[in-house]
Amino acid sequence: MNLIAPAPDRTSAFLHPFSDLGSLQQDGPSVMTEGDGIYVRDESGKRYIEGNSGLWNAVLGFSDSRLADAASEQYRRLPAYHAFFGRVPETSARLARRLVDIAPVPMARVFFANSGSEANDTVVKMLWMLARAEGRPQRRKLLSRRGAYHGTTVMGTSLTGKDYVRAFGLPPEGVIFLTCPHYWREGRAGESEADFLDRLVAELEQTIVREGADTIAGMIAEPIMGAGGVIPPVAGYFAAIQPVLRRHHIPLVADEVISGFGRTGSLWGSQTYGVEPDLIIASKCITAGYFPMSAVMVSAEFDDRLTAASQEFGEFPHGFTTGAHPVGCAIALTVLDILLNRGVLDHLAGIIPAFQSRLRSFAGHPLIGEARGVGLMGALDVVADKPTKAPFPSDFEVGERIAKAAFRRGLIIRPLGNSVIFAPPFIMTRSEIDTMFDIVQATLDEVLEGLRA
Ligand SMILES: *Cc1c(COP(=O)(O)O)cnc(C)c1O
Repeated sequence: MNLIAPAPDRTSAFLHPFSDLGSLQQDGPSVMTEGDGIYVRDESGKRYIEGNSGLWNAVLGFSDSRLADAASEQYRRLPAYHAFFGRVPETSARLARRLVDIAPVPMARVFFANSGSEANDTVVKMLWMLARAEGRPQRRKLLSRRGAYHGTTVMGTSLTGKDYVRAFGLPPEGVIFLTCPHYWREGRAGESEADFLDRLVAELEQTIVREGADTIAGMIAEPIMGAGGVIPPVAGYFAAIQPVLRRHHIPLVADEVISGFGRTGSLWGSQTYGVEPDLIIASKCITAGYFPMSAVMVSAEFDDRLTAASQEFGEFPHGFTTGAHPVGCAIALTVLDILLNRGVLDHLAGIIPAFQSRLRSFAGHPLIGEARGVGLMGALDVVADKPTKAPFPSDFEVGERIAKAAFRRGLIIRPLGNSVIFAPPFIMTRSEIDTMFDIVQATLDEVLEGLRA
């Protein structure tokens, strides 16, 4: 322990998630007070374009009164209730039906939790419970990918393919990480995209054989990696890996926490990337960020097996006190109505080409190695040297520099390692897209100049 360390500033009582706690003591937090459309305002009155929809979720922006009204109405009718012991708020049952009706593949039932992480934990517990009930208790291993993000509960962290999980002594034994399907970064010199895909499929097959198919409970994958840096899979990825999983009877879980409800340009990322999952997890956009909520959708086959397993154990012994909260469900029903019936998804389809073309135009910038994305999400990957794709030394914190420079110019974008990512609200107009990327242009030029100096 360093006894002469300066006394920390304890003027703020707030302990920040995913923040550099040391530098926060110097710089202080950004305190936000108001929202309006795609903008948020801080306590000094300065306005920012929210280029990440908060954390991917505020797809309808920060002032949709229809959602406030839906919440208020539900708060007056049945403000709180649960779904244990066979009870269920009427609004929550309606939302489950609605989700089943719009699922990308046939689904039978929906379980509600409060966060994406809880939904992932729920799925793992379902898989483990089925394994035990069906006489295969050794079926506990889980397949994930390096670069994947699946949340921050103990299992969510364990399934996440990032270095920081070591901070917690995770992952535990039995979580196996496959290669990130990012051709630009992971493809070898001279390797074609098709050869790269073949290598990933062979790796999956070899991993299953090595570990023993009968020890693997399931594989989890985001249709497009989000917090890993907006990484679309190599072309043909899911079409190629799904037959391998099926042959070995390994269920596939689609983590649609980011990609669900329109972000990739289809209602579901599974539709954009040809995923045929046995289980689907949704969260962030389900309430447009106006309420904490997540959903696990299960196929009819899974539902039958869960029902049988629950007979073995007397019940399905799992649930969250505020899961299926009627207010969250009322908001989610309204979000779906706004997305599907009030023209937001149509508007989204109209702005995606402009968003993608401005994003990709940065591929020519001296700092940018790859400009990638789909739908209304994208990333600019920053390199020190374009031909070798060599990144800047990590202590340059180049992603951080760009995000900070953009912030000073009134745009919130998120640094992720060597990249910065974009996921603006669906309600953005074409001229707001131009404003956003004009700021990005000025920011990149400023940072480049700083790096040269
Ligand atoms: C955000 C996220 C999660 C975790 O959701 P929380 O609500 O933060 O627990 C899980 N999976 C993916 C793909 C996510 O982007």
